[in-house]
Amino acid sequence: MRLATVIDGTAHAAALRRRAAEIAGRLRRETGTAPGLATVLVGDHPASQVYVRAKGRACAGAEVSAFDIRLPGDISEARLASEIEQLNRDERIDGVLVQLPLPRHIDPHRILGSIDPAKDVDGFHPLNVGRLWNGLPTMIPCTPQGCIRLLRTVHIDLSGRHAVVIGRSNIVGKPLVALLLQADCTVTVVHSKTRNADEICRSADIVIAAAGRPGMVKGDWIKPGATVIDVGINPAPTPEGRGRVVGDVDFLSVSEIAGAITPVPGGVGPMTIACLLLNTLLAACRRRGIADPAI
Ligand code: NAD
Repeated sequence: MRLATVIDGTAHAAALRRRAAEIAGRLRRETGTAPGLATVLVGDHPASQVYVRAKGRACAGAEVSAFDIRLPGDISEARLASEIEQLNRDERIDGVLVQLPLPRHIDPHRILGSIDPAKDVDGFHPLNVGRLWNGLPTMIPCTPQGCIRLLRTVHIDLSGRHAVVIGRSNIVGKPLVALLLQADCTVTVVHSKTRNADEICRSADIVIAAAGRPGMVKGDWIKPGATVIDVGINPAPTPEGRGRVVGDVDFLSVSEIAGAITPVPGGVGPMTIACLLLNTLLAACRRRGIADPAI
């Protein structure tokens, strides 16, 4: 039996982080300034704390100054917006990232819309979302960007391929659709109300799973040789109570059928953080009037 090639997201992300460090070094030499990223964490959501810490560590490795803003979970929406306003005005900061999800009493659309679009390194501001759909220069959301970068390691040309995206969230599924269309894929979206997800997936050259449903995509959903990108990060503690995460793809059965597959962990996750660094450097260059670096 021939098993799928495992796409090593950790290695690809390390290469991107090295590139980010090079660009940061060049910025320092040419402008005497360090790029800066502010992460805003509201409340004490455990997974969010882990993500924010990982982002801070990645900044340190790429010589990007990290500003770790922690705010109480009962902060008012107006106060949070005014904190972001301060970060928008702070010259040391090139990127502002508000860690999602926000507490239920805060409207995420208002908060994401209050970030200066030039500092919106997550690419969630409506202006940047519109630019993405119109194919204009923008900030490409980090996780979808990481997926496309991994896909490109397998397919130099995506044109004409049938890509199925499972999930239609604003942060993963929808931007992925925009990016895949730009790459001339034929795109189908599967979501929670889709009736024949397995059948649709079987016709795909590329399946990207972002549903938050552990092990949902099985081997018999996959066309032989297809490429499978697993975005899911689902907590699945071991019987001994040790922390562990699994993806949306049943790795064992799918790797017997697919041509290439990303693992969880070690696939899309590390790429998301590397792309955040790249977006921060892109924002830093643009704010200093420097041409976008080749990445
Ligand atoms: P979400 O809950 O906002 O959206 C999930 C989407 O999946 C929805 O659009 C829903 O319609 C669809 N869906 C749910 N159940 C389905 C089903 N049975 N069949 C088909 N579609 C279904 O989630 P999200 O924020 O987009 O995240 C999705 C997954 O990706 C989660 O596991 C999340 O932890 C993970 N994630 C990973 C990264 C990363 O860096 N790797 C980043 C963001 C999210």
